[in-house]
Amino acid sequence: MKELNPYTWIDRSLATIKQANWYRSTQAIESLPGTEATIDGQVLLNFGSNDYLGLAGDERVIRAAMTATQQFGTGATGSRLTSGHKQLHTDLELAIASLKGTEAALVFSSGYLANLGTIAALVGKKDAIVSDRLNHSSLQNGARLSGAKIIEYNHCDIDALRQQLELHRANYRRCLIITDTVFSMDGDICPLPAILDLASEYHAMLLVDEAHATGIFGQTGAGIVEHYHCVGQPAIEIGTLSKAIGSLGGYVAGSHSLIDFLKNRCASWIYTTGLSPADTAAAIAAIEIITTTSQRQQLWENVAYFKQSIAARLPDLHLIPSASPIICIELPDAQTALAIGSQLRQAGIFAPAIRPPTVPTSRIRISLMATHQQLQLDRLVTALGTIFSKTKSS
Ligand SMILES: *Cc1c(COP(=O)(O)O)cnc(C)c1O
Repeated sequence: MKELNPYTWIDRSLATIKQANWYRSTQAIESLPGTEATIDGQVLLNFGSNDYLGLAGDERVIRAAMTATQQFGTGATGSRLTSGHKQLHTDLELAIASLKGTEAALVFSSGYLANLGTIAALVGKKDAIVSDRLNHSSLQNGARLSGAKIIEYNHCDIDALRQQLELHRANYRRCLIITDTVFSMDGDICPLPAILDLASEYHAMLLVDEAHATGIFGQTGAGIVEHYHCVGQPAIEIGTLSKAIGSLGGYVAGSHSLIDFLKNRCASWIYTTGLSPADTAAAIAAIEIITTTSQRQQLWENVAYFKQSIAARLPDLHLIPSASPIICIELPDAQTALAIGSQLRQAGIFAPAIRPPTVPTSRIRISLMATHQQLQLDRLVTALGTIFSKTKSS
């Protein structure tokens, strides 16, 4: 019999999601961003934040947001091309371009929108996108939105990338290679110099997503492009203001003409409201801190200390290869990941289980912050030791 209610499929679909242990829901964090998070009144050690440098709760950044709100109000009130543009936006774009060593930059409402709009503006039906298989959702969906032919290559596999370019490049007008620089759910990094060489050899554009790299990698915190000494090479850099920068928003950094083109052709920038004064001012203050202090160094010391502790005390733990503050423990299935996530929670630790469809294999994802104390890292290692010794013997 035909169903009368056209919405009943939604409940059926939810039931399927729950059955697969893929169901997700939100939980409110009641405290200021930091190394501790209060959830349901319980204070947990926080290893689930993207606030790598602890700037989202930093007093200087908070004060900048408050001052800007008092001076310019809560909303930008319109698109940047109509009533929504402020000198603050220009100041932030200059700060980003200066951090990145590019001619110019453009700020978006989020990193996700920066990727969607930029990719769709750069290529179309006659073009090809060559994409790392594990790229972030925003890159993948930007590629779909563009209407270009999408060709995937195996994760970080430079030979596979060359093979795809060799096979397909000649059949398309423009070609765009897209990749995360730091892969958000694995923590490994792309072989950027080799990718740049291939882009040049095959006359392709390259768009790199520095969301988890900006503020963290490189001599001055510019990201993986700087880490590999590739500043000045022809790549389009995308990123977010919401991770190490502790605010909200996204950006594109590149040449003057690229930015000028996007201001005229990028729908997710043109037809949306400018970034709020608070978010803009917070990002400016955070970039100032990133470029003038050594907060990053403490983060890398924590990464080294944590990896050493794991290697010494839990050598059997299966860590996904990582070169970043994102460290994942690989687990056989979603159910195990959920069980271990909840045992960690009982031990006072917040480190989320990440499952399909976000990633191909289930895992516990730990992200370290510059502001974690060694004692807090020790507590995590001890809790993991207790939980995994139990799992093994049961
Ligand atoms: C988080 C993330 C984004 C999205 O950035 P938002 O500003 O949070 O929308 C884009 N790309 C990658 C790789 C990310 O990790």
